[in-house]
Amino acid sequence: MIYYQVERQNDDIWLVEDQYKEEFSLKTETVFSQCNGYLGVRGCFEQQVLTENRGMFVAGMYNKAYEHEVKELVNCPDVTLINMWVNGERVGPDLCEILEYKKKLNVKSGELSIFFILRTSDGKRYEFKSRRFASLEDLHLLCHSVEITPLDDSAQIMLETGINGQITNSGVSHFEEVEARVYDKKYLHTVNKVTKEKKLSVTAVCVSEQETSQQVNYILKRRSVYGQYCFRAEKGQALVFQKSSYIETGDNFNEDYAKKIISLLKQYSKDGYEQCYKRHRECFEKYWKYAEIQIDGISDEERAAILFAQYHLLGMTPFFTSRYSVGAKGLTGEGYKGHVFWDTELFILPFFKNVFPQIAKNLLEFRYRGIEGARKKAKEYGYKGAMYPWEAADDGTEETPLYAALNIHTGRATKVWSGIKEHHVTADIIFALWEYYYATEDEAFMKTAGYEMTLEAADFWSSRMTYNNAKQQYEILDVIGPDEYTEHIDNNAYTNIMAAYCIEKGLEVLEHIDKVLGAEKEHLVGWKSKQDIWKNRLEKLYIPKPNQDGIIPQDDTFLQKRQMENIEYYKQSYIKQAVLLDYSRAEVVDMQVLKQADVVMMLNLFPHLFDAETVKKNVLFYESRTLHDSSLSVCAHSIACSRIGEQQMAYEFFEKALEIDINENPKDSTDGIHAASLGGIWNCIIQGFAGILHGKGYLEIMPRLPKRWKRMQFYICEKGTYLKVIIEKEKILIEPEKELTVPIKIKIGDTVNELKTKSVYRIKREGVA
Ligand code: BGC
Repeated sequence: MIYYQVERQNDDIWLVEDQYKEEFSLKTETVFSQCNGYLGVRGCFEQQVLTENRGMFVAGMYNKAYEHEVKELVNCPDVTLINMWVNGERVGPDLCEILEYKKKLNVKSGELSIFFILRTSDGKRYEFKSRRFASLEDLHLLCHSVEITPLDDSAQIMLETGINGQITNSGVSHFEEVEARVYDKKYLHTVNKVTKEKKLSVTAVCVSEQETSQQVNYILKRRSVYGQYCFRAEKGQALVFQKSSYIETGDNFNEDYAKKIISLLKQYSKDGYEQCYKRHRECFEKYWKYAEIQIDGISDEERAAILFAQYHLLGMTPFFTSRYSVGAKGLTGEGYKGHVFWDTELFILPFFKNVFPQIAKNLLEFRYRGIEGARKKAKEYGYKGAMYPWEAADDGTEETPLYAALNIHTGRATKVWSGIKEHHVTADIIFALWEYYYATEDEAFMKTAGYEMTLEAADFWSSRMTYNNAKQQYEILDVIGPDEYTEHIDNNAYTNIMAAYCIEKGLEVLEHIDKVLGAEKEHLVGWKSKQDIWKNRLEKLYIPKPNQDGIIPQDDTFLQKRQMENIEYYKQSYIKQAVLLDYSRAEVVDMQVLKQADVVMMLNLFPHLFDAETVKKNVLFYESRTLHDSSLSVCAHSIACSRIGEQQMAYEFFEKALEIDINENPKDSTDGIHAASLGGIWNCIIQGFAGILHGKGYLEIMPRLPKRWKRMQFYICEKGTYLKVIIEKEKILIEPEKELTVPIKIKIGDTVNELKTKSVYRIKREGVA
């Protein structure tokens, strides 16, 4: 069940909270955030309320506050706070009686609207309406509009708003120094210094059609600057107040810069909120043209949840640069310190790879930029090549904190092993890279970055394995696989198979290395000498095989562990990771219990590696032992269940994925959206139900539409050409948007169809349910 109501008007669709419930405040702030890939602002009320966690996050604005801490995404100064007084009485949702209330997010534009009617202590009613959005036209711009109407009597109204740099990351301030001033008695400006090179400039201007009844009062406090704006508002007449804020990072914000921003803001505030919003929406339309999936047969709730995911996919991704990537909570909260995980490559990148490949390329290039850090990490651990960090910030340095959750027995913080032992991320990145290559045939990117990344990863994996004399095989010992409820395990099936994949790809590159290397890559010349070592190791690397019962062992010891008797209790639990409240981590490690998809994830990535019966058996076997305690798990299981023909289960998991951020649990998502899971929703639909898969040189479509879905339509960008794909019960229609420069091969069932020209290809779905 989703907590929010859904409202529709024409082509717009809103998620609506129609009651103010304090316990949902933090969740709704997250979910209703305004994000445009550059900045993200939590959807807080204008007025300060008791339970709130105001936040603005700017892509790439990471900082390490203290020597023993890791870098985190800085919570930047707040511009959304507008405290309000009527006739001297402070008003807000938790200060007055609420007569009517509606807070809603337009999932097609990311606009937040808040509406309420409040009654003050003297019995008078006031109507408040506010709207805000983070512009896609100018990514630095945040527009805000507030309307206040006294319903019973005229009133004296005071609004206090500005730039508040007293915001911290849970108590840690990242700003060494904040310079604040007011230009032209109007423009509030702060330069917030994190380091010498890293500064954040915030400029804001407030305008109203109504003249203020007295001079604006400006107040400078520590790390903040405010204006107090006073008005006389007549009964029944709306007082309209608009604020435009301009946010930019850099190292030199001099007077000339201030002049430039002031003239920009002058123009934006002259244009007004509506004009700026109109232009923002025009930019969004370009996104929706290719991003939106049309499905006949889904409910409004489902449609809203899918659009919500896609709004946030764009909002969380710094699509305009390759200098940063996507944090596990996007730009909506402090969770996971804004760090980048494998979530980006395996859960978020598929959408971009298939719909906006240039953005996928940026995300991969980000990893290439981090290759030096990855080489360093490999070296520190005594390995070769490049070993990517489990958690990254703005480069290739490992940022996983060393300690986290509480051990319920000792009362002490538990050591976090993932930064030390969860190595599969180095293969996940390479997997995503080659998927990107298959979809785009972007040889240029492979030459400048991709081949080198592949070679480094192959070298790492080749050095990561050890030879077992007794068994005469190479093994990968002491790792954490995707399932983080098992630690220090040997031969994790996922890791070993992914490692083998990297080495295979490395060998493939070596085969034609002379052709692919330009003069600028001379340093790669020595790689040829690795060929024999890699071949040998690949041949002898132990790859877990199905046992006599057809089960692929997750690792060397998993199948010998005891099963958890009361697993259903934890599977159904409303509380996140409830198992860790009753068992220590060590106890959990000793049971057949998974946090999230592991072997299942591997089967999703390599659907043709095992026969259909083995795949099905393993998906069902591991699902019965999985708690889905990571939000990455349900989408992975939906795809897996689609592929094994368990349609009902696939749909149930899909529905769970749809609800992850917008469910009825007020505790979920309070510290940020679940970025991977939102990407996973697209994957469930396109990889799972539509059955889209990239093979070498072809695109496979193997639809398994849920019973209620009559038809679906979406775009896939294949080798630079958008294909409109329509899936109906009997047939599939494919229409390239423009004349093809290279033929595109589409595999449906056992037939490979070749698209050569721009026309509508109707392909009959024979024998497919
Ligand atoms: C999951 C990881 C994931 C991380 C960030 C953890 O709980 O186990 O797989 O990468 O969250 O989303």
